[in-house]
Amino acid sequence: MNILIAASEAAPLAKTGGLADVCGALPKALAQLGHNVALIIPAYRSTKKFPSEPTGVELKISIAGREVRGTYRKCFIPEIGVPVYLVEHNGYFDRDGLYNSDNEDYADNCERFVFFSYAVLEAIRLLNLQVDVIHLNDWQTGLIAALQTIYYRDKPGYEKIAVLFTIHNIAYQGVFPASAMTLTGLHWKYFNWLQMECFDHLNLLKTGIVFSDGITTVSPNYAREITSSPGGCGLEDVLRARRDVLWGITNGIDVEEWNPETDKFLENHYTAATRSEGKTACKLDLQNRMDLPRRADVPVIGLVGRLTEQKGFDLAVELIYRKAAAGEDIQWVLLGSGDPILENRLRELASRYSQNVAVSIRYSNELAHQIIAGSDIFLMPSRFEPCGLTQLYSLRYGTIPVVHATGGLVDTVRDLNPETEAAKTATGILFCNADIQGITWGIDQALNIYRNRPNVWKQMQETAMNLDTSWKQSAGKYAELYKKIRRNRPET
Ligand code: ADP
Repeated sequence: MNILIAASEAAPLAKTGGLADVCGALPKALAQLGHNVALIIPAYRSTKKFPSEPTGVELKISIAGREVRGTYRKCFIPEIGVPVYLVEHNGYFDRDGLYNSDNEDYADNCERFVFFSYAVLEAIRLLNLQVDVIHLNDWQTGLIAALQTIYYRDKPGYEKIAVLFTIHNIAYQGVFPASAMTLTGLHWKYFNWLQMECFDHLNLLKTGIVFSDGITTVSPNYAREITSSPGGCGLEDVLRARRDVLWGITNGIDVEEWNPETDKFLENHYTAATRSEGKTACKLDLQNRMDLPRRADVPVIGLVGRLTEQKGFDLAVELIYRKAAAGEDIQWVLLGSGDPILENRLRELASRYSQNVAVSIRYSNELAHQIIAGSDIFLMPSRFEPCGLTQLYSLRYGTIPVVHATGGLVDTVRDLNPETEAAKTATGILFCNADIQGITWGIDQALNIYRNRPNVWKQMQETAMNLDTSWKQSAGKYAELYKKIRRNRPET
């Protein structure tokens, strides 16, 4: 099958979060299954570090009566040779950030992604791409579903193209003032509560949900959660109306990048069989790097993520203050950036308890790998989590996840209880409430097992490290769905 994946970020070219990991890894996995895949993303400043070639093809798009010109560059995902088309318009995309800088969203985000949306559909014609399915991702690409249905489906070469829309995080909906409708080039009649409008605003995520042939989200449990309140963030009714074409497919991970046997960011490597010595060496390296006392016997708890309300770092901060004040022998290593208030709270915490807490406020893929390898426990107190990737990385590195029982965390971490202990299927600890009692319970459970039941701990590590978290299975499920939505597509 011929698949065009359109996204606003894809690793390693441009990344702010898990969306990029998925859009970097899924094309490779689909290509390995024998599909003909191409990826298309904006040519941000970060993409310019990678070698690419101009295609010489120009595109002209009319946005609110103005002619806007751009072009396409082309590069390849290394090794597997999947082509990546980069939509180039320096005014829109050659900036410090992808969507914002200094925590301020770019004022022209709607216009930037309207341009990108037209550029994706025009690429099919201008670059002569063979496409059976366009796979869209998140609000930045939602308009493409409407444009395909309303404008393009009647054009030669577009008649048979089906559209799949994946929601990676329903909290981000691409909401703009009603006046932004003029940028889309679509008739005002589509600005109604059944299609593109939501509470008097243009909503591009809703647009994607309404106009696509099929919808997926990144785990089966999250697919259930978003069809009711509060999980649906106001779009639960829209999703319930489309429930028959809504599926949950759990994300995989790039098992080449995230492999404790070969990880290029680690000085010491290990397998499931050598994890005991291997993880200790990684722990000592991490302590060294983070200026913590070098001790193999102390439990190290790691956290990595965006500093937002969603990720629950505020709960972790409260927990760490309590544990440190009580003199508990634990080391904490935190990596993240985002909310400036949280950033300051983390810095204060680290300066007050410098022997127990190390904090790094920045984005560092290298340090993320080192924390995940060198920690004993990985904490994810997310208030909601569509799928979550860092717990999957932790599992692969034998780092036991302690997670709030929400979204994809429920699908990917198997809680320790008498049954799973006996069946040797437990891989982590789930706690029910995202509050201080919940997180304290979860961490205390984990510390108790770590300190007092080493055999259970070792078994959990072994089970976790032997799980198949690769993209292979999930890519197969996407391929099945592509087929299904093509079959079910209404005739023009
Ligand atoms: P989300 O997409 O909601 O941010 P995920 O767990 O799905 O959460 O994916 C987050 C990805 O971003 C992971 O690859 C994680 O390692 C990475 N990440 C997040 N914050 C940082 C950071 N400060 N430094 C390095 N990597 C980070």
